[in-house]
Amino acid sequence: LPGKQNLAERLEAALSQARLAFLKLIAAQAYELRKPVYIVGGFVRDLILERPSFDFDVVVEGNAINLAKALEKNYGGHLVSHSRFGTAKWQIDDVRAELIRYLPGDGHFDAADLPESLDLISARTEFYEYPTALPTVERSSIKLDLHRRDFTINTLALRLDGRHYGDLYDYWGGMNDLRRGSVRVLHSLSFVDDPTRMLRAVRFEQRFHFRIEERTLELIAEATDLLRQVSADRLRHELDLMLSEENAAAMLARLDELGLLRAIHPDFIWKNEWRERLESALVKPLPAEWDLPDSAGHMPARRFIAYLLWLMQFPLEAGLAVANRLRFPRPMLQSIQAVSLIKQTLPALSSPRPSQVVNELDGVSPLALYALRLDGLAPNLEILLEQYIHRWRKIHPFTGGEDLNRLGLVPGPAYRQILTQLRNAWLDGEISSPEAEQLWLSAMMKEIDPYA
Ligand code: ATP
Repeated sequence: LPGKQNLAERLEAALSQARLAFLKLIAAQAYELRKPVYIVGGFVRDLILERPSFDFDVVVEGNAINLAKALEKNYGGHLVSHSRFGTAKWQIDDVRAELIRYLPGDGHFDAADLPESLDLISARTEFYEYPTALPTVERSSIKLDLHRRDFTINTLALRLDGRHYGDLYDYWGGMNDLRRGSVRVLHSLSFVDDPTRMLRAVRFEQRFHFRIEERTLELIAEATDLLRQVSADRLRHELDLMLSEENAAAMLARLDELGLLRAIHPDFIWKNEWRERLESALVKPLPAEWDLPDSAGHMPARRFIAYLLWLMQFPLEAGLAVANRLRFPRPMLQSIQAVSLIKQTLPALSSPRPSQVVNELDGVSPLALYALRLDGLAPNLEILLEQYIHRWRKIHPFTGGEDLNRLGLVPGPAYRQILTQLRNAWLDGEISSPEAEQLWLSAMMKEIDPYA
């Protein structure tokens, strides 16, 4: 990787024809306005690492909203802009078919290849008035814009306009650190400005098999405690991102090693022996026969199961405390409790009747039961769980509340009791036909009112 570089060739190889032509269209518009325009950050990093990604934001040295307005005027779509930040989103999802006709070059472009929207950002710098505050924003040069970023490897900019097309701008030593495999902050207050960068450092380190650079490690050690003040939302966002990575378990192990989990909550830890379980939650296809819901508490099912599998390794009180610190939604707290209870009660039942098992498991989220299963159960208990999922939970009597009403029973708590007993009788094989159910009911009615 030599010093001064032009990445045009790589860019051409990495992007689809349509996306490339789309970029050139934007570059031409910027050139017309005499505004330098760049792709910045993750996209450039990934281009150099030969792990092409597809999403790019565009940074304009000048007012991005003006560029966005020109694009909208010439090519349609619509804009959502924020003048305070100098950012604009150019929404083109419903004009892509027309837009491809304007694209430079003679390619046969596929409209579906174009992004649905493009973020255009004015180069800006940020000040933090006090640690962990939200930054104050001000227009600036691309160089200063790059300086507010988290790590040097994310500070590379690829210029697009005019004769600069493809030029790589490396103001902060990003190439050097990419070459060395180093995750390095740009200045010593970086983690004070934004403690979540400590989690991001770990994510990039483990994703690329890099090392967090020595001085940056020292700065993490000094800033660890600042994580205590970070909101649950921001922490969860970073942890969610980790759980979507291939190396999720390695990231959690590294967080633990650096003391970052304990800074979030003293009971929060990770052990390598949990790795396989976590990975099976995140990667293994979810069994269709379990009819698992797609989500719980606004979390996709896999992520819910993964967090639960993690939190259920802790003693109950600790699991709940960590879940509260991270403001997990109610279904997570309920599942942690349910799983803990089942782990005690189920083994205590020696050769239980099906109705006893159903009694223990009904009302518990199937996601929690699946987590329990991935966690590993004694073989006899696993059989019970499977029986519950595949058969017992689906068994219900023909009779319902209305039928009891028709039989003259006054609505009340007795309904539920009778229906539960009736279901138990089915589950335990005392009833196995509709006729038998009717006989059972008549007998029951007589018991309640012997003169009926
Ligand atoms: P990924 O490959 O995970 O999407 P990315 O590098 O594209 O990573 P984003 O989270 O999409 O990262 O952020 C885009 C850019 O914004 C980053 O490259 C980085 O330069 C900057 N950035 C994001 N979050 C922060 C932060 N907390 N502090 C400073 N800069 C940040």
